[in-house]
Amino acid sequence: MNKTVYMDYSATTYVKPEVLEEMMPFFTESFGNPSSFYAISRDTKRAVDKARDRIAKVLNADSAEVYFTGGGSEADNWAIKGVAFAHRNKGNHIITTKIEHHAVLHTCEWLEKLGYEITYLDVNEEGFINTDELKDAIKDTTILVSVMFANNEIGTIQPIKEIGEICREKKVLFHTDAVQAIGNQVIDVKDMKIDLLSLAGHKFYGPKGVGALYIRKGIKIENLIHGGGQERGRRAGTENIAGAVGLGKAIELAYENLEEHNKKLVALRDKLIDGLLKIPYTKLNGPKGDKRLPGNVNVGFEFIEGESILLSLDFEGVCASSGSACTSGSLDPSHVLLSIGLPHEKAHGSLRLSLGDNNTEEEVDYVLEVLPPIIERLRNMSPLWEDFLKKGEK
Ligand SMILES: *Cc1c(COP(=O)(O)O)cnc(C)c1O
Repeated sequence: MNKTVYMDYSATTYVKPEVLEEMMPFFTESFGNPSSFYAISRDTKRAVDKARDRIAKVLNADSAEVYFTGGGSEADNWAIKGVAFAHRNKGNHIITTKIEHHAVLHTCEWLEKLGYEITYLDVNEEGFINTDELKDAIKDTTILVSVMFANNEIGTIQPIKEIGEICREKKVLFHTDAVQAIGNQVIDVKDMKIDLLSLAGHKFYGPKGVGALYIRKGIKIENLIHGGGQERGRRAGTENIAGAVGLGKAIELAYENLEEHNKKLVALRDKLIDGLLKIPYTKLNGPKGDKRLPGNVNVGFEFIEGESILLSLDFEGVCASSGSACTSGSLDPSHVLLSIGLPHEKAHGSLRLSLGDNNTEEEVDYVLEVLPPIIERLRNMSPLWEDFLKKGEK
C-alpha cells in the first residue's frame, strides 16, 4: 500500500466536498460585509443566519443561542472565562475534570492565578467521573461545572444528562466541551440540561478556525472578544462567513448520516481493537462498547515509546498519534493517561488511532499487518523489555 492511511481524525478532518462547495462563493462573488447595507451584504448575513439555524437544529437550541467563534479553544475560553467574570459576585469556585482538553485545563489554571478556586475531579480507570463526587464538590460558591462530553484521547463519553440534571438541581451552570462528540453523538441541550456547549468545525469535516458556543438564553456571561457589535453584541469581529457556512453544512451532513456513519466506525474500531489486543502485553485505554467514541482506538504497548511507534508507522504511511503531548513539543506523558492511572512508562507507550469517514476495512487490515512487527522490533531494542525478559527467566 503506497498511499497514506489517515487514522488521526480526532486531531482534525478533511473538508467534505459538499461543504467546500457551499463555502466557495463566499470567498469570491459573495464577499459583502454582513454589517453593510447592500444586496451582497444581505446575502452574507442570510448565509450566516442559515448556518446558525442548522447548528441550532442539531442541538435542539434556538438560533439566537448560537454564537460563532474562532474554533473550539475560543468557545471553551469564552464559556469558562465569561461565566467566571460574570458571576464573580456569586462565587469563585469552578469544577472541572483532570482529563479535559488543554483549552479548558489551561483556562482554569489561568483563572486560579486570578484568585478562582478550581476543583479537578478524578476519573476512574476508564475515564469516567463519579457523579457522587461531583455532587459533593458543589458548594455555595460554585458558579460553573465544565465536563467534556467525550474525551479526545481515550474516547470516554461522560453521563452528560445526569451531570446536567445535577447542575440544574443545584443551580450551577453546566458547560460541556462537545468538540469530539459533535458529528457522532445525539445532543439535545434542553433534554441534557446543558447551559453552554463548545464545538469546532474541523472535527466533523468542516473547516478549521471556526467553531461555535451555545449559550442558553438568559445566562449571564461576559464577552471575551471586544469590539464591534457582531454576533448580537457578544463576539466582536467581522464574521468568518465562509467558515460559518462550512460549519453549518458540515453539521447538517453529519446528522443526516449519523447512524450509518457510527455503525461503520464502530465495526472498524472494534475490529482494530480486537486485532491490536492480540499483540502480547497490550492494553486498551478507555472503555469498551457504546460509551466509547465510535472512531476512537487507544492502546498501550508495554516496554516501548509511543514516539518510536509513530515514526515507524509514518514510514509505513500510517498517520496516528501517541500518548505524549508531542504537539506542545514536550515529551510529557498525556495527562489523560496519567489520570486513568497509567504509570509514566505505560502512558508513553500508548497509541491513538482515530477513525473517520474515509477509512476502510482494508486499511484496518493493513495496520494490523504492519503494526505487530513494528512492536516486536521496538521491543527487541528496548532495555525495559530486556529487563522484563531477564526477570521472567529467574
Ligand atoms: C480539538 C479540540 C479542542 C480545540 O478545538 P480547536 O478548534 O482546535 O481550537 C477542544 N476540545 C476538544 C475535546 C478537542 O478535541
